[in-house]
Amino acid sequence: MPALLLALLCATAPAASAPAQEEEIIRGGCRSCSMSGVKDCKKHPSELAAFEAEVRFCSVAARCEDCGGAMSVDCGRCPEGPDSLNSEIRAESCKRWLDAGCDPETLLQRPLVRIESEHFEFIIDAPLKEGSKTLDPHAFAHHVIHELEAMARTIDEHYGATANSYSGRTRLWYWQDPEDHAKVNREIFGRNVTSAMKLYTRAPASSAWAGDNGLEGKALNVAMNACHVAGHLMLSALYRQEWLNDKKAGWFDNGAGHWYEESRFQRTATYCMDEANSDLDWKGGQWRVAIREWLAKKNEAILPALVQKLPGTLWPEEHGLSWSLYDWVVAEHPAALKPLLMGFKDGKDARELFREHLQLTILQVEEAWRAWVQATYPVRDPKARRKLTDKSRADDDE
Ligand SMILES: [Zn+2]
Ligand SMILES: [Zn+2]
Ligand SMILES: [Zn+2]
Ligand SMILES: [Zn+2]
Repeated sequence: MPALLLALLCATAPAASAPAQEEEIIRGGCRSCSMSGVKDCKKHPSELAAFEAEVRFCSVAARCEDCGGAMSVDCGRCPEGPDSLNSEIRAESCKRWLDAGCDPETLLQRPLVRIESEHFEFIIDAPLKEGSKTLDPHAFAHHVIHELEAMARTIDEHYGATANSYSGRTRLWYWQDPEDHAKVNREIFGRNVTSAMKLYTRAPASSAWAGDNGLEGKALNVAMNACHVAGHLMLSALYRQEWLNDKKAGWFDNGAGHWYEESRFQRTATYCMDEANSDLDWKGGQWRVAIREWLAKKNEAILPALVQKLPGTLWPEEHGLSWSLYDWVVAEHPAALKPLLMGFKDGKDARELFREHLQLTILQVEEAWRAWVQATYPVRDPKARRKLTDKSRADDDE
């Protein structure tokens, strides 16, 4: 070891014990708070503790009169400890976030159940059914945010993105009163319609009446819809905000929406037809077996026509085929996802992009995709989730 470095090491050695002593004096606390100065706030359901920890802000936690969202309160037996200041800072930032409000709270003039996470702002203003139970909207919001963030991690991975790569947080709002939803459409989105709406701007948003066709006030339906809609909004907001609606990218946009929804629930139930959520259904939304059999029977090329279509104009079976083609790109050419998306945003067409990024003609893509489907799709579809709050589901989140 060089002499200079040795000298430095010797010089720093005695000082090392000093901070430890100092720390003990600063720490304070007492035995009853495990020397922290704070204890857990008892006003929050313990089964949601892990969920609270994974979000940035929750309006229900932030409105807690005891802790203001810090989730911890003063020990009460000692003046303070090392965690006291952090707890105060956390409550202060929760208050600032809560006071800043959001567009629907300003419009409707009442506090709402809303959660902000890394990629999302979620508002639920309706109790929803899960089987015979009615879910508390607060618990429901956390379950949905959990699904959404798991999905967002997959999208980030597919596109080499982080939460900062999107033009804004994706905002998703669901209402019990169709009048509230209509008001949001009118006053915030500027459209005088009562159907579910998506707003493709730098601050992407969607609003829907939770009792609408296909949602029917059911927790699982609303959660699946949220994931599907979020998939569309996130891709439009990714890297450069641009709506794919007038691009010949119907298969890509719809395929992605179905793919991310299916990735969480093993089934897809949301069909976007010219902005409206219809109660369409093709083969029960479980498509591996259906697509394998469909393709085995159709010999004529499908893709040359399919890849020319605009989003919102696909036939029911084309939703399935689009999902499968996206599925193939994810499995076989994941590095092409980002250039495909950005190419579509630039107005390029699929033939050109396939040639450029997959080094394949459209007919070669068709051949490779069909062969992959026949070789990999199972004889039985995976089991679809029956419940949103199902704890037994395979948890691939960590
Ligand atoms: Zn204490
Ligand atoms: Zn909460
Ligand atoms: Zn509390
Ligand atoms: Zn869609």
